[in-house]
Amino acid sequence: MATNPVEAKPTAPIVNDDLERITHLKPQVDPASISWRNLRRDAFWQRIPAWQDVDEETFLDHKWQEKNAITSPAKLVKTVQELVGSDFIADVEAGFAAAPMAVRISPYVLALIDWETPYADGLRRQFLPLGSQIEPDHPMLTLDSLGEQADAPVPGLTHRYPDKALFLVLDTCPVYCRFCTRSYAVGLDTEEVEKVQLKATRARWDRAFKYMNERVELEDVVISGGDAYRLKADQIREIGNRLLDIPHIRRFRFATKGPAIMPMKVLTDHDWLDALTEVVVRGRSMGKEVALHTHFNHPNEVTGISQDAMGVLFERGITVRNQSVFQRGVNDHPETMVELSKRLSHINVHPYYVYIHDLVRGTEDLRTTVARGVQVEKRLRGATAGFNTPTFVVDAPGGGGKRDIHSFEYYDQETGISVYTAPAVKAGKLFTYFDPLSELSGAMQQAWGDPKLRHEMVHDALSTARSRTI
Ligand SMILES: *Cc1c(COP(=O)(O)O)cnc(C)c1O
Ligand code: SF4
Repeated sequence: MATNPVEAKPTAPIVNDDLERITHLKPQVDPASISWRNLRRDAFWQRIPAWQDVDEETFLDHKWQEKNAITSPAKLVKTVQELVGSDFIADVEAGFAAAPMAVRISPYVLALIDWETPYADGLRRQFLPLGSQIEPDHPMLTLDSLGEQADAPVPGLTHRYPDKALFLVLDTCPVYCRFCTRSYAVGLDTEEVEKVQLKATRARWDRAFKYMNERVELEDVVISGGDAYRLKADQIREIGNRLLDIPHIRRFRFATKGPAIMPMKVLTDHDWLDALTEVVVRGRSMGKEVALHTHFNHPNEVTGISQDAMGVLFERGITVRNQSVFQRGVNDHPETMVELSKRLSHINVHPYYVYIHDLVRGTEDLRTTVARGVQVEKRLRGATAGFNTPTFVVDAPGGGGKRDIHSFEYYDQETGISVYTAPAVKAGKLFTYFDPLSELSGAMQQAWGDPKLRHEMVHDALSTARSRTI
C-alpha cells in the first residue's frame, strides 16, 4: 500500500517549535538609543524671545523665513534678547567685522542653535563668526583655493573633469556660510573682500549653454552658485529644460543648502517645488537623471520639518544626496558623523561626500586635519548601508579636484602636509593640502611662520611624493 507522503512526514510541532525559538547572537538594543528615528517636532523656535508667539503656520512660511533672516549683530540682539550676554554680543560684533563673508542666518537655523552653549554649538560655529575664535589664515592660502576660475572657459562655468561641468548660475544664497569655498564670488562685498561678479545674467547663461552645447564629452552638470534655492521657478524651468535639450547631457543636479537651513520652502513654495518636479519628470521621460544635492553638516539640522520636506521630494521621485563639510567642533566627532548619516538616511537623503574643509579665508578655526578625517571615516564605514556611507574627499587646492582622503601619495602629520595626485584630471601634477596650524606642535607652528623653512618643508614633501609616484 502506498504511503501518503503527508502522513509519512515527522509530526509538524517539532519543526514549528524550532522556527519559533530565535537565538539572539547580539545583545538587545535599547530603542531609546535609536535616536535618529525620533526627530524633534516641538515648536523649538518659540524659545527665541522675539518668536515666542510665532505659530507653526507662520514659521513654516518660506517668505517669513526670508524676511526674518539675521544679517547684523543688531538684528541678532533684537531676536535672541536675554538669551545671550553682552560679552557674547561683543564677540559677535568683532566676528562680523573680521568676516570675509556677508552674514545671513535663517530663523530655522537660529532657532536650532542651543543658546545655553553658544560658544560650543555646532550650528553657531558654522554661521556666526566670533572674534575670539578666529585664527590666522594658513600661509599657503589663496582666495580661490580650488582654482575654479582657472578652469573656467566662461565666467562661472568650471570644466575641470573630463565629462562634467560646474555651472555657477547665480551668486546669492538663502544663508551665507562662513566656510564657503566660493567666498571669492558668493555674497555681498565685505570690508575684507571684493568679489568676482557671477550675477544671474542672461548673457552669461547664454555663453555657458553655448559652451556646453559645443562640448560633446560633457554628460554631467552641477548647477550651483550661490544656491539653487534662490532661483525663481521660471529660472529652474529654463535652466532645467535647456540642459535637458542638450543631447549629450545625461545627468544634472541642482545644488542647494536649502533643505538643511530652510526645509519649509519645499513645503510652502509650491511654484518652486512644481518647477523642480516638472524638470525631474521630463528628464525621467527622456532617460535622464535630475537630482538635488544638499548640504547638511550637523545632526541638529535634521528635524521633523526636514523629514516632512524630504518626504515630499521622495514621494515625487526626486533623488536627494548630501555633501557635508568636515568641520572642527561641528561634525569631526565620530559619533556626530554616525548620527548625521543615520538621520539623513532615515529621511531618504543619501550621504554622498564629506569634504575635508578647504583653505578658505577666516575659517582656520573650522578646519581639521587629514588624520582626523581618516579616523572618522573609519568609524563611519560599516555603520550603515554602503550607499548611505559618504566618501571622505580632499578637494585638492590648485584644481586637482576631489581625491579620496586615504589616497594621498604622502602625508606627514607633523608638518600637516599631504600630497595627492589626480591622474584622470591633471596627470603628472602634484597637489598639496595643509592641516590647520593650530593642530600642529608649537615648534612646527613657528617653522611655518618662517618663509624659508616653509618653502623647504613644502619642497621636501613634493620631492618625496614625486619619488614615490614615479
Ligand atoms: C565636485 C565637482 C563636480 C562634480 O563632481 P562629482 O564627484 O561628480 O560630485 C564637477 N565639477 C567641479 C569643478 C567640482 O568641483
Ligand atoms: S549656501 Fe553654499 S554657496 Fe552659499 S554660502 Fe553656503 S556653502 Fe557657499
